[in-house]
Amino acid sequence: MTDPMTDTDVAIVGAGAAGLAAARTLGELGVPFVLLEAAHRIGGRAYTEEVAPGAPFDLGCHWMHSASRNPFVAIADAHGFDYDKLGFNRRMRIAGAWASAAEEAERDAFMAENSEAIARAAAAGPDLAAAEVTERAGRWTALYDYFFSIWTAHDVDQVSIVDLEAYDDTEENWPLKQGYGALVARHGAGIPVTLDTQVAAIDWSGKAPRLTTPKGEVRAKKVIVTVSTGILAGGHIRFDPALPDWKQEAIAGLPLGNHNRICLVYDRNVFGAAPPRGAAVLDEGAGGAGGAEGAEPMSFSIRPFGYDYVVGLTGGRFADWLERAGTAAAVDLAKENLKRAFGADIVKHLVGHNVTAWRGDPWVRGAYSAALPGQATQRRRLAEALDGRLFFAGEATSTGSYSTAHGAHLTGIDTAQEVAKALGKRD
Ligand SMILES: Cc1cc2nc3c(=O)[nH]c(=O)nc-3n(C[C@H](O)[C@H](O)[C@H](O)COP(=O)(O)OP(=O)(O)OC[C@H]3O[C@@H](n4cnc5c(N)ncnc54)[C@H](O)[C@@H]3O)c2cc1C
Repeated sequence: MTDPMTDTDVAIVGAGAAGLAAARTLGELGVPFVLLEAAHRIGGRAYTEEVAPGAPFDLGCHWMHSASRNPFVAIADAHGFDYDKLGFNRRMRIAGAWASAAEEAERDAFMAENSEAIARAAAAGPDLAAAEVTERAGRWTALYDYFFSIWTAHDVDQVSIVDLEAYDDTEENWPLKQGYGALVARHGAGIPVTLDTQVAAIDWSGKAPRLTTPKGEVRAKKVIVTVSTGILAGGHIRFDPALPDWKQEAIAGLPLGNHNRICLVYDRNVFGAAPPRGAAVLDEGAGGAGGAEGAEPMSFSIRPFGYDYVVGLTGGRFADWLERAGTAAAVDLAKENLKRAFGADIVKHLVGHNVTAWRGDPWVRGAYSAALPGQATQRRRLAEALDGRLFFAGEATSTGSYSTAHGAHLTGIDTAQEVAKALGKRD
């Protein structure tokens, strides 16, 4: 795109999982499109970097959730990517020792009871916050709240139980050896995209909307907007006329939370022959394991696929706080947790790190969306087109697979089909 004005049928804003899927679908249907991406790369929140030669690390999506219904499994097969089917399997490390089988069972029962309480309350209504219906004073409450903040990127008082219940979870979570971000990029490799091109404004007042970019204007019959609700809520794209109030309420009802990954790289294996795949480190505070007076729990993926690194996870407000404190503080905290769990020697052979900062990412502004209490219906509202010209896709518009890469991908396909149909080009 070098002309000051480009004319096309469809302009797609954003080349993440949703935008790439929309572009591929339009291409297959023979609909001309332009795909505009603000960043220097495709993939958005799907992004893999090597932290050491031959050691890929997913900064964003990592697990193929609900794998038996996840189209990326077939895509991985087609591209020869490897994955395993072992799931999370995170054991607990309490006061420097592995938790007993009885403690693990007690924790699992606690987690299951909270899930059932959410299901019951969501069915009965009204749409409350998860904090209002889950156990607040149990031995495992702090651990539950911690994992909740990883799953939803928000804290328990911020998330709608109806939205939680709508999530289509088969409990099959399969990680990719070469990286989920690498898979999304590989699958999108042949798709024509204009990188380093931020859409600053969309004028949809006329019959053919106009998009303003630093490389010129694009005029299209239809526009598919796939940017995150963080970008939409922050006003980083100017809409003229302004989006109607109901659409702005939908965006505000589906804020992006935060979830960061702290990857600590070793020059050797310090965890022994067959360490558990993951460890949740708990402090024995006065409130019990991970109790109110203990430190914030932190869970780690340990040597995924045998790579010489561990990944500490943070979520919700705590992730925001730690991101503001900076990379060095995040690395220090992860090291302290590892030492607490495995002894001082465990950090001896660390040689590097890679710490994400999704809230500060200028093209995302957070990690993924959750519906605020009472706002579960907003996903459908966000997905609704405006005047048959302005269409919306992306993870936050998915009602059952929100906050996932495959959910974003599927909304891209659906929206592209809708747009093609509106153009009279669906076969
Ligand atoms: C830390 C983390 C862990 C995650 N873990 C998992 C997981 O294990 N499994 C899973 O399935 N999902 C996971 N997710 C969620 C998943 O990555 C996202 O739901 C999905 O990738 C979102 O895709 P999208 O296309 O909707 O949005 P995005 O990926 O955000 O794509 C939108 C694109 O728009 C671009 N853009 C923004 N503004 C503009 C503009 N003005 N002009 C042009 N382009 C613009 C952005 O650069 C971006 O490329 C995780 C996410 C994070 C952050």
